[in-house]
Amino acid sequence: NRVKQNSVNEFVSKILEGNITFLSKAITLVESTNSKHQEKANQILEKCLPHANKSIRIGITGIPGVGKSTFIEAYGKYLTSKGNKVAVLAVDPSSSVNKGSILGDKTRMEQLVTDKNAFIRPSPSGTSLGGVAQKTRESIILCEAAGYDTIIIETVGVGQSETVVHSMVDFFLLLKLAGAGDELQGIKRGIIEMADAIVINKADGENERNTKIAKVEFNRALHLYPLKESKWQPKVLTASALHNKGIDKINQMILQYISLTKENKYFTQKRNEQNKYWLLSTIDQQLKANFYNNPQVKNALQNEINNLENGITTPFNAAKKLLNL
Ligand code: GDP
Repeated sequence: NRVKQNSVNEFVSKILEGNITFLSKAITLVESTNSKHQEKANQILEKCLPHANKSIRIGITGIPGVGKSTFIEAYGKYLTSKGNKVAVLAVDPSSSVNKGSILGDKTRMEQLVTDKNAFIRPSPSGTSLGGVAQKTRESIILCEAAGYDTIIIETVGVGQSETVVHSMVDFFLLLKLAGAGDELQGIKRGIIEMADAIVINKADGENERNTKIAKVEFNRALHLYPLKESKWQPKVLTASALHNKGIDKINQMILQYISLTKENKYFTQKRNEQNKYWLLSTIDQQLKANFYNNPQVKNALQNEINNLENGITTPFNAAKKLLNL
């Protein structure tokens, strides 16, 4: 490739200036499976790290159709109108080339997309949730270095992705609908337990009455859980993302949470724990990647699989032999 490559320092200084083109290019490097790209991404990340960490990270989950993108657009616009800079990232391990990612559809968040104080990035593709999450975590650092003070991480409320997103945010918000049972909404108990707030969306028109009832029920359900380590009592709020209703209250609540947890030191403690978790999971992934990318292993792996099929070796012997390479 004869095209002149931008140097690591060039990347870093442009990102720190808030240059979106370079931010996007850096995230592309983070997401690349090419080892040279990864190496460069790591160098950029390392230099961006001292400038990161200053944002508020908010996770948003809920079943498809609950109104996540409508809500994120309304909330994002609200924040940028107040002078904030908002980055929206997504974790969606199911997104592959043919399925398309949850943020891949260009028609989503039409207004936010054109807002110069907003940066929207679809979910990286990948089959392993761990891999997708790792890339998102690294993208958070780059966005923060680029000056985004609010990072919103969207995920679909299915599978394990909420747990992973929960492990990378300060505040976790669950969007719900009134009048649909938990089973219908595909929401597991554990997710309610993780939520710092439940927002009942589509509180408009005929739905308004049901929303009031649902609010009482969710409040009752939340009070059954013991007080969280954060000392924060999770709240139930209502919103109409479509009509921009309830957004201000939700923002106030999030700010309340941040000030409480900064005061009682939980904010920093949680981020430290999350960093530790990421450290260990990065090691895990790196070890695996090193193993599978090793040329000797690549050569021998199919051979051992053949031997296994032909009954010449056992899974344990084959694994041992490959690991010893
Ligand atoms: P997502 O799949 O969770 O991202 O949901 P979308 O944001 O795409 O919303 C799904 C549908 O619900 C769209 O047709 C939205 O216009 C609609 N919707 C979203 N929020 C509201 C709301 O507050 N009130 C009403 N009535 N409809 C909404």
